[in-house]
Amino acid sequence: MVEKLYVTYNDVHKLCQQAAPKILEDFKPQLMIAIGGGGYVPARILRSFLKQPGSPNIPIQAIGLSLYESLGSSEVEEIGTKVTRTQWLDLSALGEMGNLVGKRVLIVDEVDDTRTTLEYAVKELEKDVEEARQKIGPDAPKAEFSIFVLHNKDKPKKGQLPDEMVNSRYIAAVTCGDAWINYPWEAIDIDEHDGHAQKA
Ligand code: 5GP
Repeated sequence: MVEKLYVTYNDVHKLCQQAAPKILEDFKPQLMIAIGGGGYVPARILRSFLKQPGSPNIPIQAIGLSLYESLGSSEVEEIGTKVTRTQWLDLSALGEMGNLVGKRVLIVDEVDDTRTTLEYAVKELEKDVEEARQKIGPDAPKAEFSIFVLHNKDKPKKGQLPDEMVNSRYIAAVTCGDAWINYPWEAIDIDEHDGHAQKA
């Protein structure tokens, strides 16, 4: 049976707090992009700990990505995994895509499981920003993307991130085994959820 981990709101808060100094030191993000729905709460908590006196709060943009496992059948030759966008960057708040050119952007999600979602997010965001950069001119600075997740499952990954990103622009608050993690925002009965977490 797959091991189950129960994570409380208190745990999430403290994991964000513990990771914040390193995120500030290594990336100094100017914008966060939360991958919905699991990235929303961590991004909001993180924002409190990234706030610098005299500077405004770091804006948070939300994108929605859904992972569909396509099952093999006689008609479908390829067994694959598909990510679909349910929501993308809000350009009415962000302004044009060119506003991301040269920015330090932190992508936030709750868990890096197969890495398929993160690969898609990084590739698509880099593509969109690169297109905008080309329009500005070849000398315009590149945007720099980094990643924060609460949990990274230590397992073979289906999705790939650039080596340089994994080595120096990727922070996981916790590296864990291939368990199923129950997050508090998914709980129907939060007291029961917290009870499970306490028993562990
Ligand atoms: P990926 O396999 O692309 O890394 O993860 C895709 C999505 O699956 C995650 O963003 C998350 O929503 C969901 N997921 C993967 N593993 C877990 C888990 O252990 N617990 C929960 N609650 N969701 C998970």
